[in-house]
Amino acid sequence: MVNRIPQEKIDEITQNNNIVDVISDYIKLTKKGRNYFGLCPFHGEDTPSFSVSPEKQIFHCFGCGKGGNVTSFVMEIENLSFVEAIKHLADKSGDSLPDEWIRQQGPSYSSEEQNILDAYEWSNKLFHHVLKHTKDGKDALTTLKIEDFLKTLSKSFN
Ligand SMILES: [Zn+2]
Repeated sequence: MVNRIPQEKIDEITQNNNIVDVISDYIKLTKKGRNYFGLCPFHGEDTPSFSVSPEKQIFHCFGCGKGGNVTSFVMEIENLSFVEAIKHLADKSGDSLPDEWIRQQGPSYSSEEQNILDAYEWSNKLFHHVLKHTKDGKDALTTLKIEDFLKTLSKSFN
């Protein structure tokens, strides 16, 4: 996919959105030394292993391994595409983002594609549930079936 928003504009919008401020809208961050820590919004936990570096403008979770910059955080938590996340951030920081940059990103998902995406997300959850909560041998067949299903689904996206 060709990215039509000029890189300078992306940099500008990213710089205008401090990662600490953006993440603070979602979770409570506490400053410890040079970094901020909080409970990870991407996996369940009782002790904060989600860290945010204001210097590097990145986040990293030591629990589930998720990490990235302010744009990837917004993509992940709001379930947005890269361009949508940039637009979301531009709205937040009051940066202008001409419509033609956004429109040239190609069509958004059709409802059929959205259904497949939803099914993928659902089966992914089920797959993890099966892996976590069932006995090995007995449910191996189910697991394999779901694995095949996932493979078929992911093929339609690649
Ligand atoms: Zn995490």
